[in-house]
Amino acid sequence: MEQTFIMIKPDGVQRGLVGEIIGRFEKKGFSLKGLKLLTVDRAFAEKHYADLSSKPFFNGLVEYIVSGPVVAMVWEGKNVVTTGRKIIGATNPADSAPGTIRGDFAIDIGRNVIHGSDAVESARKEIGLWFPEGAANWSSSLHPWIYE
Ligand code: ADP
Ligand code: MG
Repeated sequence: MEQTFIMIKPDGVQRGLVGEIIGRFEKKGFSLKGLKLLTVDRAFAEKHYADLSSKPFFNGLVEYIVSGPVVAMVWEGKNVVTTGRKIIGATNPADSAPGTIRGDFAIDIGRNVIHGSDAVESARKEIGLWFPEGAANWSSSLHPWIYE
């Protein structure tokens, strides 16, 4: 089954949005396979966002991510990468639809509350980076009620 990497950024943790965000993924029917609260250092944040290293906002982005604890998660389910991005909403909260996490809880692109992998391949890389110990191996008993 497909997995994605979701991270609640420091603003989401500071603003007390952790429960709300986890609730949205849970209520959709996805399964939580990994979860931890941690603070990362610069080198780690730069590695996570390596693809964006040439962007003018890169330095500010790294400073934002290291500024406080984040909640790193692995979620599993059918099409969870694409659907997870839909639950999160567009990168710039000015364009995120109401009903999405960024659409409901963010205003500024530089404080957009949450990260989600953009493809199955990047999800695999990000899960490997953030969960080198591996994700949990269990199945929700709700499976027969979620999938036909
Ligand atoms: P997404 O998080 O939606 O996958 P990107 O991968 O393009 O978006 O960018 C990673 C993160 O960098 C964004 O979530 C946002 O926090 C930040 N970011 C992107 N574009 C800008 C920008 N123009 N100015 C400031 N921060 C930005
Ligand atoms: Mg991205």
